[in-house]
Amino acid sequence: MLGMMMHRPLMISDILTYAAEAHPTAEIVSVRTEGDLHRQTYPETLARVSQLAHALQGHGIRLGDRVATLAWNGYRHFELYYAISGIGAVCHTINPRLSAEQLIYIVNHAEDKLLFVDTTFVPILEAVKDHLPKDLIYVVMTDRDHMPENSLDALCYEELLTGQPESFDWPMLDENTASGLCYTSGTTGNPKGALYSHRSTVLHALLVTSVLGSTLPEGAGVLPVVPLFHVNAWGLPYTAPLLGLNMIMPGGALDGPSLYKLMDGEKVHSAWGVPTVWMGLLAEIKAQGRKPEGFADVVVGGSAAPRSMIEAFEKMDVSVGHAWGMTEMSPIGTHGNMPNWVKQLPFDQMIDKKAQQGRRVFGVELKIVDDHGNRQPHDGKAIGELYVRGNTIVSGYFNNAEASEKAIDAEGWFGTGDIASIDSNGFLSIQDRSKDLIKSGGEWISSIDLENAAMSHPAIANCAAIAMPHPKWDERPVLIAVPAGDDRPALEDMHDHMSEHFAKWQLPDDLIWVDELPLTATGKTSKLTLRQQFADYKLPDLR
Ligand code: ADP
Repeated sequence: MLGMMMHRPLMISDILTYAAEAHPTAEIVSVRTEGDLHRQTYPETLARVSQLAHALQGHGIRLGDRVATLAWNGYRHFELYYAISGIGAVCHTINPRLSAEQLIYIVNHAEDKLLFVDTTFVPILEAVKDHLPKDLIYVVMTDRDHMPENSLDALCYEELLTGQPESFDWPMLDENTASGLCYTSGTTGNPKGALYSHRSTVLHALLVTSVLGSTLPEGAGVLPVVPLFHVNAWGLPYTAPLLGLNMIMPGGALDGPSLYKLMDGEKVHSAWGVPTVWMGLLAEIKAQGRKPEGFADVVVGGSAAPRSMIEAFEKMDVSVGHAWGMTEMSPIGTHGNMPNWVKQLPFDQMIDKKAQQGRRVFGVELKIVDDHGNRQPHDGKAIGELYVRGNTIVSGYFNNAEASEKAIDAEGWFGTGDIASIDSNGFLSIQDRSKDLIKSGGEWISSIDLENAAMSHPAIANCAAIAMPHPKWDERPVLIAVPAGDDRPALEDMHDHMSEHFAKWQLPDDLIWVDELPLTATGKTSKLTLRQQFADYKLPDLR
């Protein structure tokens, strides 16, 4: 027997129309490329999104068409999210830090019809335009006065909106209609497109709200440093309107001092981003001698948050939520909102718990398997490759049959490429990406564990542990470190510091000092680039 309840499709447009009605005073505050700070409420945003939707249709955009963005976090980018998906088209967010080759590949692969670009990134497009589709229409996201000279024959965003009606009759689409497209940064091979739907996006927003809503009070300011061009800024453009949060959009100013100033001025409650960003902010907090006013919560993910970073935030009464996920997961899989028993643990034990990747959100199942695909127990000891299943996880890749086939196992689970354990309380511990694990003498060494231990040394500002080839042991770990000041401890000193947590054979064979670590397009330490930089390196016992 079927239940007798209405069936309404889950629509992204409903999130914004809801926010405009239920949270009419909450604002989107944006650092603009024009150089000023801009504010608008959700009702004002809805009116502009309606205008944009009319303009898109006027330019022939129809159901399923891809419309691309190449932009910072700001209100116009947010408007594009809702206008494009609202009319049934697909919002294809492009990462401006991709190589020219990758950019050309994905615009052609996605067959974008329109491309909206911030003034900052116009030169990037000018450099590659001869390799992009000839009929692609460019729109610069500014007003007439700020339009840059360009060779793109570009339209002006604000002119597109002018004169359009301020309301729109949002269509009820099939909830499985594609709404967003985001390519993985593709460290190997071509980037692959995760194609989100209205249903997966709304469910993701609800799932995140269910676990993090209690830490994000209505009217609080949330700062997505995580870009809208990367996995929907971890879903915040959908979660924030649902919860009635003020969205504080930092534009392109992502250095510590700029973030500090913005957070202090807007009394940001919760800030979201990858660990490298928080290193800059922590340095500025140290320089200022106090945290930004109102700062109470930070969500860290994208790569493992170093334990020392979590400790530094918690000591200043900023609660750390350590989340794990992937582009292919919309992206949030696990979250760091803690149960009461963890909050009551002694400080050090509580930090240990927060250094793990938290517990799964409802709707995302986790399994770990050994090399033969056998499920491993969730006992905190067994380690295996992590697989996920749920409504917010890709079932394949956009227009890529080969990659789609490899992505899903026989039981319908998606292979994350991460190596992990899960304990009996449901806490996930990511040991490493399978390609970053260091295999020495048939045993594994977690590069994340080595980095965590090294980073707790005051002389180390940042570091990465990578595998170097060794004829006898297969691979040996080497630590590449950025000094915090003038002090450069010797390898033996680091061994003394780290030996509490590691067996002797697990300790790094060498310590190399560098001025900075290379970053990926998504702001994480790029171990691939490091391995390339040190391709000719020889371990000390082989020299
Ligand atoms: P890319 O790294 O190509 O930009 P994603 O942003 O989707 O792609 O990265 C997902 C990967 O990032 C995960 O598979 C995992 O290896 C890593 N990751 C994400 N969050 C965490 C975390 N909290 N701890 C450790 N690793 C993480």
